[in-house]
Amino acid sequence: MKKIVFGFSLLFVVSLISCRQTKTSESFTAMNTFMTVSLYSSSVKKGEAACNQIKNRIAELEGILSTTLPASDVYYINHNKKLPDPMKPELLELFKFSSEMYNKTYGAFNPALYPVIREWGFTTEEYKVPSEQRINELLLHTDFSVFCDSGFMAGSKIDEGMEFDFGAVGKGYAADEAVIILEKNGIKSALLDFGGNIQTIGKKPDGSLWRVGIKNPWTGGAVCALSVESKAVVTSGGYERFFEDENGKRYIHIFDPKNGHPCEGDLESVTIVTSSGKNADTLSTALFVMGKETAVEWWKQNPEFDFILLTKNHELIYSAGLENFIEPLYQFKTVEIVHR
Ligand code: ADP
Ligand code: MG
Repeated sequence: MKKIVFGFSLLFVVSLISCRQTKTSESFTAMNTFMTVSLYSSSVKKGEAACNQIKNRIAELEGILSTTLPASDVYYINHNKKLPDPMKPELLELFKFSSEMYNKTYGAFNPALYPVIREWGFTTEEYKVPSEQRINELLLHTDFSVFCDSGFMAGSKIDEGMEFDFGAVGKGYAADEAVIILEKNGIKSALLDFGGNIQTIGKKPDGSLWRVGIKNPWTGGAVCALSVESKAVVTSGGYERFFEDENGKRYIHIFDPKNGHPCEGDLESVTIVTSSGKNADTLSTALFVMGKETAVEWWKQNPEFDFILLTKNHELIYSAGLENFIEPLYQFKTVEIVHR
């Protein structure tokens, strides 16, 4: 079975002087992701201090949310079938936020899907197609609302078959935490790239908007460019993490909670543009699961964000709020702008 996985570690610090603002750029690996923080500050010292604070905070979050680090809180819950006592505030916040998003997206976003996702070999990388019977057994323990109804009480027991995975929201949450650190440090211009989850702070130091490329799933490079200010730009797609069986059938890492199978919908990728990283991250996964038609309808009911859909049919569909900020760089079959 073919697998596409990333795994490299690199650490470097670059500082450049540009019109009274010093650029500091630092890359590191955390949350199984290559991350880069680029920021502008009044001195190298200030920039490096902010980068270090971000790195430390992300390491701290990983220590809470990781499904594979034995010392993490999520690992503790998954293996002991009870909530820690005390509950760390970050964990409680994420459970509450996830509960809200689970309900809002009618279960398309479901952090309790982990036993199913692992059965297919994601996280262990021992990929396989499980039997329908096995998938259905595991699905019986993925009702996140049942768990939420119990009120997240510290030390309380959970369903023996239930396990959590915040993989679809963790990087967005980490970006929000990084923004708080940057604000506290008085930094007004920065760009975070957490493995394709982009978060911009303010504008570029010269006053222009940040130009963010949306990945081309078919040829590589950028499929369109987006100009933004103080926004998260988060993309979910099936083209980077997947495995293929002997017949070349592709199984991606985003799952349909209804049937416990990797999504096979009509979308190639979903990009969400909004101020909060965790909202963008959650919604990019959820709208991908929903598929084109439902995603567009869902947005019409919940239009407090913008979206870009790339369909498998090479169509570009985006919300009207992006109209003056998007530049297609690809010969799409059709381009559709969705108004409320
Ligand atoms: P990425 O992490 O690659 O940027 P996503 O944010 O879309 O992509 O998150 C995908 C991850 O979330 C998967 O690797 C898996 O751990 C988890 N996941 C997969 N399907 C779902 C789902 N329907 N709801 C919640 N989490 C999911
Ligand atoms: Mg996500």
